[in-house]
Amino acid sequence: MNWLHEPWIETIIQHLSEYGWVVLILLMERVWRIYKQPLFRVGFISDIVYTYQNVILQLIFATSAPIIIEGITTAAIAANFFPATGDGFLQNSLSTQSVWINLVILIIWGEIVFYTVHYYAHKIPFLWEFHRVHHSSRVVDSFSTSRFHIFDRFWFTFPNVLFMAYMGAMGDAIIIYFLMRTFMDRYIHANIDGPRWTHKLLISSPHFHRWHHVTDRSVHNCNYSGDFIFMDMIFGTAYDPSPQEKQPPRPDEFGEPGYPKYADNVILHQFLPFFFLYKRLFGKT
Ligand SMILES: [Zn+2]
Ligand SMILES: [Zn+2]
Repeated sequence: MNWLHEPWIETIIQHLSEYGWVVLILLMERVWRIYKQPLFRVGFISDIVYTYQNVILQLIFATSAPIIIEGITTAAIAANFFPATGDGFLQNSLSTQSVWINLVILIIWGEIVFYTVHYYAHKIPFLWEFHRVHHSSRVVDSFSTSRFHIFDRFWFTFPNVLFMAYMGAMGDAIIIYFLMRTFMDRYIHANIDGPRWTHKLLISSPHFHRWHHVTDRSVHNCNYSGDFIFMDMIFGTAYDPSPQEKQPPRPDEFGEPGYPKYADNVILHQFLPFFFLYKRLFGKT
């Protein structure tokens, strides 16, 4: 799709994923918000830093290249593993398919990876200490989307990028895929309900993902899916109380019980998992 490579289209795509979705979903939250919480709520500064970590790092290192872990670093590692000339089983098979087949395969693979990594991030204590950072947010809104420990980001992202490199996924499909992901990831954390009929099309909603962030431990191990919910359906982990009700029941408390309140800070988020792991191994709880 040559039109995707027009300079003005590339500029629009970059601005949409970096700023456009942020503004659009912020507007949706102003119009349809369901929790009366201020924009500048607890942890807001941290979440702004997470949202713009790429831009901030680019400013610090005076470069225009993407330098976050799921950007050029991960892609470079993946390309090193699987050069474009490889001819292993199914290797580079996507390079000869249409953009839309590429996109469907990327979506299906992306969801399988997201669900599997996410499920084990909750079940394996070592992984959980890093994933806890995402759950430390006591307010769920579109700005809480990007709050992830850098290790957590890495194992959510790396299998995806490795797959793209191995299968020779087309650049156009990857661009459309990430544009969709950057919208959907913010959308499912937004302070709105979102239409629930999308569940029938296997598309997630803020209402669906919100239950994954509840403080109540008897509920919280559910809805591991990212943007599409078929894996939760297949494995029976989908949770949506009273799906027929027009006004669905909503959780009223979010966050990770026991996560220190003083730690609402990007730097501490990055160091605390190691401290908690050390405590698990050698200290008294
Ligand atoms: Zn989780
Ligand atoms: Zn989340």
